[in-house]
Amino acid sequence: MKIELSRSALEWQAKARKYADEYLQPHEVEAELNGGCLPDDITKRNKQRAIELGFSAIDVPKSHGGLELPMVEQVAIWEQLGRVTNALSWCFSEPQEWMFEACSEEQIKNYILPMMLGEKKDCYAITESGPGSDVAGIEATASKDGDDYILNGEKWYVTSANLADFFWFQAQLPDENDDALFLVDQGTAGIEMTDNPLFSHTYAAHHPTYQFTNVRVPASQRVGESGDGMAYTRSWFRHERLMIGARSCGAAARLIEDATTFASERMVGGEPLSEKQAIQFMLADCATELWAARLMTFEAAAASDRGDDLKALHNRCSMVKLFVSEAANRIVDRVLQVFGGRGYMRENVAERFFRELRVDRIWEGTSEIQRLIIARNLLKRGLDEM
Ligand SMILES: Cc1cc2nc3c(=O)[nH]c(=O)nc-3n(C[C@H](O)[C@H](O)[C@H](O)COP(=O)(O)OP(=O)(O)OC[C@H]3O[C@@H](n4cnc5c(N)ncnc54)[C@H](O)[C@@H]3O)c2cc1C
Repeated sequence: MKIELSRSALEWQAKARKYADEYLQPHEVEAELNGGCLPDDITKRNKQRAIELGFSAIDVPKSHGGLELPMVEQVAIWEQLGRVTNALSWCFSEPQEWMFEACSEEQIKNYILPMMLGEKKDCYAITESGPGSDVAGIEATASKDGDDYILNGEKWYVTSANLADFFWFQAQLPDENDDALFLVDQGTAGIEMTDNPLFSHTYAAHHPTYQFTNVRVPASQRVGESGDGMAYTRSWFRHERLMIGARSCGAAARLIEDATTFASERMVGGEPLSEKQAIQFMLADCATELWAARLMTFEAAAASDRGDDLKALHNRCSMVKLFVSEAANRIVDRVLQVFGGRGYMRENVAERFFRELRVDRIWEGTSEIQRLIIARNLLKRGLDEM
């Protein structure tokens, strides 16, 4: 299933595929059976190789020593990394371009560039138990006190916080009628992990709950200018929603390939399973949905590279996230069915992706929230401007 890509995009695609196949995929079952963790030396080797290949610098501006790849090339990379289960591709951190617009030179030096170099890892603390999907209703507060801010609030599902060096902490500023992001070092007095629930997937990165009580940070830890707080969070959402699309395409491709091989080899009633029309129909639906998903994802990335209108782009990233995550869930459900009982074993890629792909319909804004964004765009701007 070929999509016309530049020579450079094809080279990155091949590089990422080789890395995924050789460094990550062989360790999936081991990770699955060990709470998502691999031996330290393997994790270090995988991280080091990813950094050598340049994956941690793909969205970093050249002016800061990065590769500044077009979004289409970034999607081509993350599509291949998405073929791997157990989030083994999260072994390196990757700064995003908006961080260089949002952060001060000091913040870039102390937090963002160390991510690119593999020296620091971040985690994102936005969601709260009360407002949930309603990001605009966040209740955590930041209050000015001399040259500092005092942060208070409880944050849920802080992915990777168990491995991270610092938080992006989203708060409202009641005294300034504003909201903002803050960079907060892990271990600052007043931060407490209050819960660490188990989730469906088996990842080394956990999603704990954190209580921030009178956490004092210098005002220099505030990110960006007044009025910019939610704008940066929206940039984060656009990037992540597009990359969820990319990773889901990669996962779906691997699932379809494996199911096709299995169905061709598995003998049922004296003939290959693939001869059964019921199985052929499932595989055909999977391949067709993947084709549509890939076209959407790469076109949204191309629109970003063309510099299309930001609101239209935001809407398209929502469409990508909605359609591709839901298509990938339909695909993995069919593929697991093709494998029969074997598909329900944890050593089978379909079983692991069956659990792992489910959260893509929830995090970075649920499917319902994406539908709201799309519907509001349609009603406000009309089909031609979407
Ligand atoms: C594994 C995991 C990791 C996560 N990692 C992070 C992280 O690193 N950082 C972070 O900040 N957050 C993270 N999240 C949080 C995630 O973004 C939220 O779970 C998600 O935005 C939904 O919020 P909620 O769980 O409170 O659901 P709720 O808002 O309570 O929604 C419950 C249901 O109601 C629906 N709903 C809500 N509002 C509306 C509406 N207006 N119209 C129609 N339907 C609606 C939702 O779609 C959903 O089906 C993570 C979540 C999970 C599960």
